[in-house]
Amino acid sequence: MPDVYNWQLGRKMQYPHREAHPRSQFAFVFNTNRCIACQTCTMACKSTWTFSKGQEYMWWNNVETKPYGGYPQSWDVKLLAMLDAAHAKAGREPAWGEAKAGSAATPYGTYDGLTIFEAARTADQRGEVAVGYEPTDEEWRFPNFYEDSATGSRDQRASHNLAPATLPEHATWFFYMQRLCNHCTYPACLAACPRGAIYKRPEDGIVLIDQSRCRGYRKCVAGCPYKKPMFRSTTRVSEKCIACYPRIEGQDPLTAGKPMETRCMSACVGKIRLQGLVRIGEDGGWAEDRSNPLYFLVKVEKVALPLYPQFGTEPNGYYIPPRWVPRAYLRQMFGPGADAAVERYTHPSRELLAVLQLFRASQTIVYRYEIVEGKKVFEATIDGRKWEMFDDTVIGFDKDGKEVARVAVEEPKFERPAKHYNSI
Ligand code: SF4
Ligand code: SF4
Repeated sequence: MPDVYNWQLGRKMQYPHREAHPRSQFAFVFNTNRCIACQTCTMACKSTWTFSKGQEYMWWNNVETKPYGGYPQSWDVKLLAMLDAAHAKAGREPAWGEAKAGSAATPYGTYDGLTIFEAARTADQRGEVAVGYEPTDEEWRFPNFYEDSATGSRDQRASHNLAPATLPEHATWFFYMQRLCNHCTYPACLAACPRGAIYKRPEDGIVLIDQSRCRGYRKCVAGCPYKKPMFRSTTRVSEKCIACYPRIEGQDPLTAGKPMETRCMSACVGKIRLQGLVRIGEDGGWAEDRSNPLYFLVKVEKVALPLYPQFGTEPNGYYIPPRWVPRAYLRQMFGPGADAAVERYTHPSRELLAVLQLFRASQTIVYRYEIVEGKKVFEATIDGRKWEMFDDTVIGFDKDGKEVARVAVEEPKFERPAKHYNSI
């Protein structure tokens, strides 16, 4: 089993497949603080790709309410329990060593526990490439199971006598978690497929299932820790998110040949989503690209974190964690960078505040941004620290350097002349 470098874990890990890296990588950042669970993203995907017979239960994009919701039901709780069992059997702890945290190679420290690939060698799943399971039909029943359900005891909820909601952490809480295939750097679905039907495209790192090679063994369904490949009973083969690749290739007439964000990203009402392509260096990691907004959010500001990095697939979806949620939960879900990410989001730097305005400012993929400084417009004290806000303008450029977005931090107000009650 070859060793590969997983920068999210800060160490080499075993990966049961040949190592190969694309020239650029499909990636995205979601700001969980802003999602309203309107499910517009979910329906945008559904109405584009999974509206046919046999696809009824397929939600390539879904938005679930944490901590109780999940699609398929309890997918992450089950995976974490399986990993725990593997650690117990191996006499190990799924712990992070934070000694070298902060360097480019080990931004969150070093994960000393077992990934799903490593755990498969010690757990009861010897012979499988990764610890995993195939969800039952019952678990695929309800995409919005437990939607809007908060923590807190049943008695508390019945009496509406909920614990106080004060920052930094709410005692009673929930948050929305947006999910799709992470087009992982080390995809477990790909490694698990005995037919070699799954491949990662060299041009953009999108992970696809070759429908003509697939025989429906469902090893990808069991292997993917995020449970994003799905079996279609009418065709007897598996399907998964295709990252709207015709749009990424610039085939949509709207952007006239320019790479365009996916349907779920473009449709986002809450403006929580920013998607793009990051350049991959010779070593397989992200090449330095300071003015790419995704690079800035993930690598420079470290405000956006991978989902369950300990699984080991190096997912390419990143989340700005919800700032009101107990930190221990966030650390389990996003790794040890969670505290610092919440802190940075709560007191955003001048540059971060400007870059956050790029979310949903354009359907065309932004490759580079510039900031034009504006005047100071606000000042406040946050957690005892002085914080200043500037009306800077962020400008986004497409692949060819053409301007596609221009947004100011302070939203401009337009007053219509009051000619009539209904002057529209
Ligand atoms: S999220 Fe799952 S289906 Fe998507 S690339 Fe990763 S392992 Fe494969
Ligand atoms: S469209 Fe945006 S705001 Fe609405 S549920 Fe999806 S991610 Fe959340």
